[in-house]
Amino acid sequence: MLTLHGAGIGKGIAIGTAFVLHRPALDIPEYTIPDDQVESEIQRLRYAIQAAHAQLSEIRDHIPENAPSEVLAFMDAHLLMLDDPLISKEPIKTIRKQHVNAESALRVHAESLVRAFEAMEDPYLRDKKTDIDQVVNRIQENLLNVQQANIGDIEDDLENKIIVTTDLTPADTVMLKHQKMTAFVTDLGGPISHTAILARSLKIPAIVGLHGATRYVRNGETLIVDGKRGTVILSPDQGVLSAYEDRWNEILQRRRELKTLLTSESVTKDGIRIQLMANIELPEDIDATRRAHADGVGLYRTEYLFMNRAEPPSEAEQFLAYKRVVTALQRPITIRTLDLGADKQVDGGRTSVSITTNPALGLRAIRLCLHEPGLFKPQLRAILRASAYGPIMVMIPMVSSLDELGQVLDLVEETKRELRREGHAYDEDIPIGGMIEVPAAAIAADLFASRLDFLSIGTNDLIQYTLAIDRVDDAVNYLYDPLHPSVLRLIKMVIDAGNRAGIPVAMCGEMAGESQYTKLLLGFGLRSFSMEPDSLLEIKKIVRETDLSSLSDPVQEILTCSLPNELRRLVEKLK
Ligand code: PEP
Ligand code: MG
Repeated sequence: MLTLHGAGIGKGIAIGTAFVLHRPALDIPEYTIPDDQVESEIQRLRYAIQAAHAQLSEIRDHIPENAPSEVLAFMDAHLLMLDDPLISKEPIKTIRKQHVNAESALRVHAESLVRAFEAMEDPYLRDKKTDIDQVVNRIQENLLNVQQANIGDIEDDLENKIIVTTDLTPADTVMLKHQKMTAFVTDLGGPISHTAILARSLKIPAIVGLHGATRYVRNGETLIVDGKRGTVILSPDQGVLSAYEDRWNEILQRRRELKTLLTSESVTKDGIRIQLMANIELPEDIDATRRAHADGVGLYRTEYLFMNRAEPPSEAEQFLAYKRVVTALQRPITIRTLDLGADKQVDGGRTSVSITTNPALGLRAIRLCLHEPGLFKPQLRAILRASAYGPIMVMIPMVSSLDELGQVLDLVEETKRELRREGHAYDEDIPIGGMIEVPAAAIAADLFASRLDFLSIGTNDLIQYTLAIDRVDDAVNYLYDPLHPSVLRLIKMVIDAGNRAGIPVAMCGEMAGESQYTKLLLGFGLRSFSMEPDSLLEIKKIVRETDLSSLSDPVQEILTCSLPNELRRLVEKLK
């Protein structure tokens, strides 16, 4: 019996038989093309891209109707990538100019596209490089006429099978779901890649980034995949197997019990109403929000609208997207303005970026938006126009300076004047809030609160910036600690500042959806939590079991505790 660790996806457990799929890396040849064969070489590349198009369209057409809408979005994203000039045009120019073979021309341009994405500070965008790799790989396979172990060709019944392979594309994941695979484990991949997001929404337990999985796992051996703990147990003994079977039954039972809370109020034992909101990425996520009976959307990450395309979405397109969300839900929707990374590559520019600076501290989020009004203004106009159709709030990411905040507020007023002049309807009193995710904003939260209508604590970044830990760097992940006293004190300061200013304070970082912190946060005075819709009932259950008046003493003790283990024990005891 051996236990391996990777990044766990989803909260489920799967027990099944390993189905190891070896897909060795392609060997890309490099050679020169005689002058008279240049055009036929170009034609060869065109055919390979066309074939990739046909293959992806075929998969897209077979997506089951009940599959989550993201599945379609992923397939469309891959299809769109085939049209990216760095894939469809630039390699052709290179073949013509340098007389090199199609495979190597494609590789050169794909690599520069990948480098541009790798340099991006935003982890969502950075993970896009995996998608590019997958799309390019498909074209290379067509060029080389190699039949890699093709997921679509697996004839075996995959029921109770756990796929173990180097990497999976979203398309592969859809296919495997068709074939009823139970779970998957990959050597590569990050926890917020498209494939991981997809696995979560398809409710397939998975472990990604488990380097060496294909080396250690033997075909046919029994595996236990624990998505919550990020572990794979190889050839478990009978005792471990039955312990896991019991745990899985408990999880299922717990899910059934939680469903009974769907229509229950989110109130504490002492009658305080706690707002439970959803975090969404795409307008389609609104279905999950509705199913979870969320009070609204506490974080709509609009940067997803800007991905996988050569040009940013127009004001009209954004307006329709925002309007769709607000009219569908008719509950408060907090639209976060663009939180893109430290470069402009995502919206059409295609040169590779210098990463000599630290991108996490660079031109990101509101800094980038103020730097590029051409990108920001259409978004503000679209959000304001959509506010005529339902309750919308605007949320500014990564505020750190009061000057910057002043500029944003001026820009909002200017946009309102423009819209008024043009005769567009909008909500004159649209609330403007700020994400508190930089220590500077947390420390001076009272000053920010005096100029904003609400605050929302982004713990993912607040922890990163407070503890000086890159949230996407594996090497320092172990230091990422929501219970670090400095983090706890900053959170408490922000909540207090908001309360004193009489404005709502929410939390939309991952910490808000993790049940081990709910009582602590309630004890700090937090009354609005925003999280992935799937976590909502679990948090509601804890809210309903909490007596707020019993929390003040233990919370004080936690805030002054200097021993990390003791602090964790005190938090645990709150449950
Ligand atoms: C956060 O930083 O906590 C947050 C919610 O924003 P994101 O994860 O999108 O950076
Ligand atoms: Mg953030």
